[in-house]
Formats: sequence, C-alpha cells, structure tokens
Amino acid sequence: QYYLDRIAKTKHLNAYLEVWEEEALQKARELDTRLQNGEKLGPLGGVVIGIKDVICYKGHKISAASKMLGGFTSMYSATAVERLLEADAILIGNLNCDEFAMGSTNENSAYGPVLNALDTSRVPGGSSGGSAVAVQADLCMVSLGSDTGGSVRQPADFCGIVGLKPTYGRISRYGLIAYASSFDQIGVFGRNVADVAGVLQQIAGPDAYDSTASSQEVPDYQTRAHNKSFKIAYLKDALFHPGLDPEMKDEYQIFFEELEAAGNSVTAVDFAYLDYVVPAYYVLTTAEASSNLSRFDGVKYGHRTPLQNLDLTDFYKKSRSEGFGIEVKRRILLGTFVLSAGYYDAYFTKAQQVRRLVVNKLSEILSTYDAILMPTAPSTAFKIGEKTDDPIAMYLADIYTVLANLAGVPAISVPLQRHSNGMPYGVQIITKQFSEALLLDIAAQVM
Ligand code: GLN
Repeated sequence: QYYLDRIAKTKHLNAYLEVWEEEALQKARELDTRLQNGEKLGPLGGVVIGIKDVICYKGHKISAASKMLGGFTSMYSATAVERLLEADAILIGNLNCDEFAMGSTNENSAYGPVLNALDTSRVPGGSSGGSAVAVQADLCMVSLGSDTGGSVRQPADFCGIVGLKPTYGRISRYGLIAYASSFDQIGVFGRNVADVAGVLQQIAGPDAYDSTASSQEVPDYQTRAHNKSFKIAYLKDALFHPGLDPEMKDEYQIFFEELEAAGNSVTAVDFAYLDYVVPAYYVLTTAEASSNLSRFDGVKYGHRTPLQNLDLTDFYKKSRSEGFGIEVKRRILLGTFVLSAGYYDAYFTKAQQVRRLVVNKLSEILSTYDAILMPTAPSTAFKIGEKTDDPIAMYLADIYTVLANLAGVPAISVPLQRHSNGMPYGVQIITKQFSEALLLDIAAQVM
C-alpha cells in the first residue's frame, strides 16, 4: 500500500505504464497470512518489484512501449519473472521505457517521456528510464530492466542509484522482447549493492528455454568480502576522452587517487579501440534488430492497419509504418542496409571484426587486473529534448557502456558524486565473464 500510494502521488513522472494494484495487495495479504501461520517466506518474500515493459508476465499487458504492441497480453512469463514469483516477490507493475529498448533518454516511448525525479526538466536516461525512476523515487524496492548497450547502467547513473548488467548468459532471456539478441541481458536496479545482489541470486542461472543461458552454477552473490584490496585498471582513452565533462574527469582522477590511497593498485592502461565501439555497436545491434523486429508484421500479432483491400506487401508496409515510432524505423532501415548484399562485408563483417578485437583486448586487460573502472556516461542527465534532434550525438553518449555488451562481460554503475549542476553521476566497474561476485565486492567497497 505504501508503494501504491507513492505511485499515485508521482504520476507526473510517468514511470509506470500499468500498476497491478489488486494483484499486488492480494499477494501481500497472502504472504501476510502465510507469515501468521508460521510459514517461512521465500528469499524475496514481500519484496516489491517493478518490471520493464519488455519483460513478459503471463496475463499482463506488454507493449515494449510501442504502439506496435498496444493492447497485447503476454501468453507466458519470462523465466526471470517466474523466479521472482517463486521467491515470493510482489510484482507491482510494468515500467515505461524507450520503444523496443532503443534509446538513451526514455523520450522514444509511445507513452511519453519519463521524468527524472531529481530534476523533472531532465531525462532519467534510457532505455530503462521507468525502471530507474521507480527505484529512485521509491515507487518500488528494486526493479528489472534490460541492458543491450547500457540501458540499465546509464539510467542508474543519471538517477543516482545502482544498476547491474550481468554477464551475457547469466540471466535467461526467455520472455524478454528481443532487441539485439547477442547483446541483450536482463539487469537489476536497486538503491544499494545488497539489494541488487539479492535479486540476481534468485533470477540467475541455467534455463532450458534459453540455450544462450549459461549452465554455469550460480555462486553465492550475497556474502561480501570486506577490506580486500583490488588490482584496478582505468582506461586512459576513456578518462581523457574529449567528450567527457571536464568536472567529472577531475573528480574521477581524485577518486582513482583515493582508491590507491586506500590500498588498491590503480593503473592507467591503453585501449585504442574506444572510438570504434559505438559504430560497431550500432552496426551490429541494428542488424540484429532489423531481423528480430521483422516478426511484427500485423499478421501474427501486434498492430494491424485498419485499411482494407491492400495487397500483402502494402499491408505489411502500412501496419509497420503505423505501428513503429521514428527511432525504431531508423534502426530497422540502418540494420537492413548494413545486412544488404552489397554492403554486408563493408559494414556487418567489419563490425564483427571490431567486436572480436574489443573482446580480445578486454580479456587481456582483465586477465591482469581484477576490474576496469571508468565513467558510466560522459555527462550527467540531459535536459528533455536536448539531444532528440541529433541521433548521432545521442548514440555517441553510449561510448562507455556499449563496451561491456560487445564483450559480454558484467558491469555495474554505482553512484559516486553530485555534479555542480546538482545531478548525480556514478562510476562503472567491469570485471571478467561470470565474476559477478567480485564485481559486487568491488562495487560495495567503492560505494
Ligand atoms: N542507448 C543504447 C541504444 O539505444 C542502449 C539501449 C539498451 O541498452 N537497450 O541502443
């Protein structure tokens, strides 16, 4: 009831698309009765959770914040959702986001932008902006988002909370609406590292419904190592990138010195590929998206044009033109272009090669160091509308987050500072594949 009241008072933030009021209260009463009867609840007993509108929950609406899926109801639940329910969590509603998780500001939603609760003239980041604001504004305890190129870490950074993207394959993608399948991962937002670790513990692990979910055993993510010292690397090319806000750069330098003074080793390393990660990311993800989104054709499900007497091609064209928003269309076009016969080698193959170089270089660094630290984003939260006319500028702001998705490694953003403009920003930590426990240890120590 506390969260329902908070949600009702903060409707202007536009974080929730649907609130499952009756169901949440019913579940709370049921858990209460079980407690009264001396029963022990599951590990997430009574934890109130919101989920991004790209994660299926049987019998509930899901639209990927797109007109294309307006009115669509999930026929099954995502594995992550099943596991939350098995752990006795209370699901309270689904959360606004950029259409099909494409964006960095949550301005691409068919249901309007989400506002940053710290300054409502600014964006919360994206694409999981609703999930970030729901935690930021105390509209749930933790939330799920998805992170294809930063959509959990960047909004966490803009909102002053913790956002984790696990290793590719750590959490099943079954029931997550696909954007770019070789990049997508469900991620977790929380106010602290312990909350995020507790949710990860429940939803991680193998899944017969997702062959890309790793069969690696799920270790203990919740016991923290204290007062350990770490071998930390930071990327010179990231810290001295001309796009990084100068005040933030100075603060990161001070922060690295403090880490060193606290007994960690902190080393500057070269990463010559930084300027290639955004182009490679946008070639590969738009290619995958153009293929994934071809299923929305107005026949099987989703928006169908009301126009009559069209031949099949025009029917597809009309349905898709009416259903998709401008950013999604831009990406389908770009992705189709880079996959087309004459350009495949020049763009798609080339980007795959860049991805391989990035993977190799990162694993080389991470075989010597425990973690790489760098900014999560080059600036604090943008003003609403600030970047909407310039998609390239918007894409370039993803420079620090796409790296972890290209390489499939886990990464987390934890709050660090307030900028002189009043907005929070964080630091991003990256460790090698399936080392979430180490990642969380470092996160807990720096926070
Ligand atoms: N901003 C990136 C994009 O638009 C990341 C999106 C995401 O992680 N879902 O592709």
